[in-house]
Amino acid sequence: MTEGEQKTLKKPLLGIGSCLAGNAVRYNGDTKKPNEYVRNICEHFDTRAFCPEMGVGLGVPRPPIRLVGTEDTVRIVDVKTHTHDYTGPIQDYALQVLQQAPELCGYILVKGSPSCGYGRVKRYSEDGQHLASDQNGIFANALAQADPLLPLEDDGRLNDPGLRESFVTRACAYHDWKALINEGLTTHRLIAFYTRYKYLVMAHHVPSYKSLGPLVANADRLPLHELATHFIHALMAALTHRATRRSHSNVLFHLAGYLKRTITTAQRQRLAALIEDYRIGQVPLVVPVTMLKHHFSDNPNAYIDSQVFLEPYPDELRVRNLV
Ligand code: SF4
Repeated sequence: MTEGEQKTLKKPLLGIGSCLAGNAVRYNGDTKKPNEYVRNICEHFDTRAFCPEMGVGLGVPRPPIRLVGTEDTVRIVDVKTHTHDYTGPIQDYALQVLQQAPELCGYILVKGSPSCGYGRVKRYSEDGQHLASDQNGIFANALAQADPLLPLEDDGRLNDPGLRESFVTRACAYHDWKALINEGLTTHRLIAFYTRYKYLVMAHHVPSYKSLGPLVANADRLPLHELATHFIHALMAALTHRATRRSHSNVLFHLAGYLKRTITTAQRQRLAALIEDYRIGQVPLVVPVTMLKHHFSDNPNAYIDSQVFLEPYPDELRVRNLV
């Protein structure tokens, strides 16, 4: 096995809020119990825990902190006096995390935290009135700004099957991309990479499918690194769109078309019926995908076998049992 193949086979690495990972680092010395979905994801990915508040030297127990200010000037300060400002140190800590773990391909944040929350974190006025719940935590925001490709979700949002599917899909895709970059980017490898992702992109966002194809087909028109930057941003943005039953069914019917000459009429009809059952909500995605995989295992097709769509993340996550 080549070094490049070994890298590809390594499990994706996710960052996770240290309190969610079972460490007693909350301001009051508690941990935060992870929900079943966070636990399940952690079983199938490698994880590395970080606590930004501990990372900037706040101990346990510590005075609680919160977000204060206008939308444009929000900062993170102690609840009692609003005079101890930790904004800059926590932003710097986010950059340190990305430097310490360049292989991170996603991050599980912590719902509601002024440091680690993702969306809807409470913001207060200078005199302590609750103004809105409209912020990311300071650490989460700094991560997003420093690496816009890094998939971020918090433990609360991961309860949503669609958001969970999108998160693990993007984390695995980013892991795959980082493995390609480590191996050495070439035009040929970039084209091969996109070829594997075509049907997954089609499932998530047809306009991106239509624009990424020509971009890659005309790879020689742009310097390679410019092309790669453009490509990976467009790919990750495409995968941020939720795949629906309709869009998944569209891809399933496309893939079924490759079996036209290799399975019997009865098998074809049964497969089409299963895809239709999925489209109208009677069975989960795993049902027609399993049937397709079964047919392609009996009738191998190198192009289809390479498609990430058939297994964009470990099957053991059982995400496709719920979408
Ligand atoms: S700063 Fe983040 S990781 Fe640390 S205790 Fe708060 S939510 Fe958990």
